[in-house]
Amino acid sequence: MCGIIGYVGNRKTTDVLLNGLYALEYRGYDSAGVAISNGKVEKIIKSVGRVNELEKKVDKDNLSDSIFGIAHTRWATNGEANINNAHPHKVGKVTLVHNGIIENADLLKEQLIKDGYKFTSDTDSEVAAALLDQALQTTDVLESIERVTEKLKGSYAFGIMIEGDNNLYALRKDSPLLIGIGDNENFLASDITAIIKYTNKYILLDVKDIAVLNKNSVVIYHDGKEIQKPVQLSDSKGVDNTKNGYAHHMLKEIMEEPIVLSRLIEKYANAEDLAKLDLHDYEELDIVACGSAMYAGLVGQNLFEEYANIKVNVYPASEYRYKKKIYNQKSLVILISQSGETADTIAAMREAHELGIETLGIVNNPDSTIARECDRKILTNAGVEIAVATTKAYILQVCVLSLMTYITAKNKKLLSDNQDYSCFEKLPALLKEVLDHEEEYESIAEKLYKKESCFYIGRGIDYALCMEGSLKLKEVSYLHSEAYQAGELKHGTISLIEEDMPVLCIISDKNLKDKSISNLKETEARGARGIIITTKDLDDFEGYDKIIVPTTSMFTQSMLIVPALQLLSYYVALKRGCDIDKPRNLAKSVTVE
Ligand code: GLU
Repeated sequence: MCGIIGYVGNRKTTDVLLNGLYALEYRGYDSAGVAISNGKVEKIIKSVGRVNELEKKVDKDNLSDSIFGIAHTRWATNGEANINNAHPHKVGKVTLVHNGIIENADLLKEQLIKDGYKFTSDTDSEVAAALLDQALQTTDVLESIERVTEKLKGSYAFGIMIEGDNNLYALRKDSPLLIGIGDNENFLASDITAIIKYTNKYILLDVKDIAVLNKNSVVIYHDGKEIQKPVQLSDSKGVDNTKNGYAHHMLKEIMEEPIVLSRLIEKYANAEDLAKLDLHDYEELDIVACGSAMYAGLVGQNLFEEYANIKVNVYPASEYRYKKKIYNQKSLVILISQSGETADTIAAMREAHELGIETLGIVNNPDSTIARECDRKILTNAGVEIAVATTKAYILQVCVLSLMTYITAKNKKLLSDNQDYSCFEKLPALLKEVLDHEEEYESIAEKLYKKESCFYIGRGIDYALCMEGSLKLKEVSYLHSEAYQAGELKHGTISLIEEDMPVLCIISDKNLKDKSISNLKETEARGARGIIITTKDLDDFEGYDKIIVPTTSMFTQSMLIVPALQLLSYYVALKRGCDIDKPRNLAKSVTVE
């Protein structure tokens, strides 16, 4: 969600800025813009849509002797995605890019209008630019920035240029921004991938830090005083933008699942590493996450409660942060986030810390805020995921939770002799088998893609898989889908079942098979068309369209079912002609509340 890049140095500024924006594209956005300056003249160029649209305009208007600039990909929060609302915003002497939401912007704007300011956009960001311009009329830059931040409520990362001043300024609160350090050149960026081509050295900014960048120096001020901050080294390899011959990143990333899974499983085959996943000291776990990561948490809840006898609560982070928490002495808060920058999940983590509760983060991005701030971190190491809809990162989140359950149950002596690590070791090969059946998913997609709506139903852990299957379908194909606990349907929602409506029923738990199939039949009696997703050993279903996956242990079964649903969603989206890797309205890294 939103990308910021800034550059000062001797390279061609527009090249660095555009490369940075391309690298940040995966975060999701709806418009883009750059501001460049040669110290005398400044140019702002914006476009709606993709960075390549912006690039076409930049080539025409290029200020070839530019020495610094800032650029932005916007994910609209205040005002629709149009040219006027795209960043950078210029008010008086101030040009800025902003990531975040200024919550009191309307109030501040009213006063600025009374003071004579005119606004050309609907954004909260332009209000911040006007406030800074106003402050600059009475005091210097640092003091002005401080005055502005005292007035702002909400979240922000700003990259700022000021007319007549050849420095770049940067600051942040609850939105990501780092300072990249080069030789005779410096950068600011939402994440390291935007600048890793040029440098792996970076400085993290804390709240109230103000970074002043020029070609030869980066100086950080805090409360008006210069401070020293450690320079960190990233081992990020950057974003691999190639699709390796696949039509879409989503398909490529699904096909990478066996490889990334085997990497994780090999790592934890080592007893010392596996021991780090043991949670037997805890009595209660709060799993806090958003979207697919939360649904991975639901799988974890089923596994932990069933096999490790630990009570687990799963919450969407946006709800958790504002609810009353009831912890016991042995509570642990587990935060799951692919990007490690999910605003609500970060807030939940910080709140747990304030309440003195231990946190454990399951994250994919090693350089992220959650990876840095949680008490214990487990990296999924899925590599960069470019498709906005998560696939391989979700599977690895489930795998970590499953490994945690396994080692915790083992240490609590709750496992039988035949429940050993071999189910994990056999998993990647079985998953390859699942992924080899593309034509089957395609033929079921053929039956789904013209429908307006469908249901996913299941019980217990299968319901957790329904949630993810249904979300994936909605995200990439825009086909409306509801996930429901199979037994709950008749308490109201069954009224939505119509002639020929597809109902996808997941059955992987043999104890719940008969119950779920009865519920499916109830929908069929009302005209629905049942589609069954099940395992080889449970399959004795006649006359249905089916997806059958190999049977494995309950620790690993979900990691064979969900990839089939991911492929099904992919093919439905393909047949509906959707922008699969960048679905409308979605962002990869959700850095606002
Ligand atoms: N709130 C700002 C806007 O709507 C910034 C959005 C973003 O983070 O991209 O323009």
